[in-house]
Amino acid sequence: MYQSTASISRTMHQLAEISDAHCHLNLFENPEAIVRECSGRGMKIILATGGSAKDNLMTAELLKPEIVFGIVGIGPDFAVAEGEAVLGLRELVKSSKKIIGIGEIGLDFKITSHPGGIAIQKEVFERQIEIAKELEMPIVIHSRNSLDEVLKILDRHSVKRAMFHFFEGDGAGAKELEGRGYLISVPPVETSKRRDAIKSVDLRNLVAETDSPVVGKTPMDVVRSLEMIAKVRGIEVSEAAQVTTDSLREFFYI
Ligand SMILES: [Zn+2]
Repeated sequence: MYQSTASISRTMHQLAEISDAHCHLNLFENPEAIVRECSGRGMKIILATGGSAKDNLMTAELLKPEIVFGIVGIGPDFAVAEGEAVLGLRELVKSSKKIIGIGEIGLDFKITSHPGGIAIQKEVFERQIEIAKELEMPIVIHSRNSLDEVLKILDRHSVKRAMFHFFEGDGAGAKELEGRGYLISVPPVETSKRRDAIKSVDLRNLVAETDSPVVGKTPMDVVRSLEMIAKVRGIEVSEAAQVTTDSLREFFYI
């Protein structure tokens, strides 16, 4: 019998658990409605991620629904203007059991607007690595054009648990992360480097994200990331959904 794409994707949602490893829930006009819709369509975990002091506070307000968990930190885009906000992180993390990681933090070498900005990014990044270690929390990394430097810093601080959001590296880069036990997060943007990364590591070291509403439209667009993983690995989308969700649970102790 003929099955429409919509009904196939409905079947998939019933069979497997879906999760979005990285989105910015607070940037939606109506985050509560987005969460309700995702929940109704079978999504089990949404990691709502901050990045600026304001985004962190807004994210912390959105953690009531069962499927939503929070990640807070000062990202490289805000390191120069808001580096001092790092001081408030411990208290914010302790305000909710549903804040389960520090992020997105890291280095972005594409940001060149501020002289000395890279040095400030590094300092803000390292201060937050120390906080994450003290709180025994995993970190969520934003790394753009900076993988070698980020890895050097993570190695120096002996970081054991890191998830690389929107991983932009190739297969060799992905293997570097895998060797350290880090998670590689796949966004819904297909490139040959990304296919190479997906192919090069154990499926269990991959998770799927949308970075919505910045890249994906809603967290449900994670299906596009999952379809890419499934296609490259030659598996069913439902298997990609279940394995990535299991890995996310295990990594963040959800
Ligand atoms: Zn993001």
